[in-house]
Amino acid sequence: MLTTRLLRFTRLYSSVSSSFKIKDGFVDTIGNTPLIRLKSLSEETGSDILGKAEFMNPGGSVKDRAALFVVKEAEEKGLIKTGGTVVEGTAGNTGIGLAHVCRAKGYKCVIYMPNTQSQEKIDLLRMLGAEVYPVPAVAFENPENYNHQARRHAEKLPNAVWTNQFDNVANRRAHLETTGPEIWEQTDGLIDGFTCSTGTGGTLAGVTRFLKEKNPKVKSFIADPPGSVLYSYFKSGGKLNERSGSSITEGIGQGRVTTNLQQDVDLIDDALYISDEKSIEMVYRLLDKEGLYMGASTALNVVAAVEMAKILGPGKKIVTILCDGAYRYQSRLFSRKWLESKQLLHAIPEHLQKYIIL
Ligand code: PMP
Repeated sequence: MLTTRLLRFTRLYSSVSSSFKIKDGFVDTIGNTPLIRLKSLSEETGSDILGKAEFMNPGGSVKDRAALFVVKEAEEKGLIKTGGTVVEGTAGNTGIGLAHVCRAKGYKCVIYMPNTQSQEKIDLLRMLGAEVYPVPAVAFENPENYNHQARRHAEKLPNAVWTNQFDNVANRRAHLETTGPEIWEQTDGLIDGFTCSTGTGGTLAGVTRFLKEKNPKVKSFIADPPGSVLYSYFKSGGKLNERSGSSITEGIGQGRVTTNLQQDVDLIDDALYISDEKSIEMVYRLLDKEGLYMGASTALNVVAAVEMAKILGPGKKIVTILCDGAYRYQSRLFSRKWLESKQLLHAIPEHLQKYIIL
């Protein structure tokens, strides 16, 4: 008993002391995010619904980790030298992470993104000194897709690298080496289930691989929004449909199995489809009940965690990712006009509509 207490104290003390040490600039503050118990949802399900607070990364999202790893890899491989340029195709968050990392390390940053993304992300990228090209949102197969434009831009410049987050597995490695181990430690290895949505698939693949290597009994579910092909891919045993429809959840949803996801695709136990109605309602519930001002992909992840808890039964520990804050989307998610234009106003319960202030 005394030894257990002593061990706990030593562990607590050592983790507290290391997290309070002086950090060596922006990149040193990436990761080691808290794991938060979502009280109202835990009470509702009888399981611990735990959110990994990735919005607390210094660049404000889960993508800071991948941004750091892809740049570090480019440096290690000698693909970029001081004063060089990092070019990336991104829905915004990887770009924001990269723009911070580039400023901190002395690189230029060029970002191609689909022009469907929020103005807040574009503005922030430009404020961070990135050169931003919002381009028409066309499918990956089209040579004008933002990723191919980013690749071509880098090819034309000397001392430039296209970090290629979708198919560069340094992205997945960020989560295999940091997010996964942190979750394992924070749950004392007692985690039963992990679920999250995917953009590149780096988070889902890397975390799933780490957790399953520690304990193959941990379940992993992919959570998928409308307009993504991955739910039907998993449910049909590997059939890829054409992409159709769209979602309000920025940064997630996919039309293909990326190289990052491919690495660990066989480890995913099941898939959950989460509608925009459920996601937007959860944005408002998280704010009202938990005091958390979260973006729509986070809300979708939390809905998925609740569904997973119901599937696995009570008394479990379910972890998901709190990807980023609502600040990045507030002109949309908290605008009555925008919600009406997406026919989502009805999904927000009457008593929560007081938060719609724009
Ligand atoms: N949520 C948000 C808000 C994102 O920007 C992203 C990445 N585009 C994700 C979730 C998904 O992360 P990953 O790329 O690791 O699948």
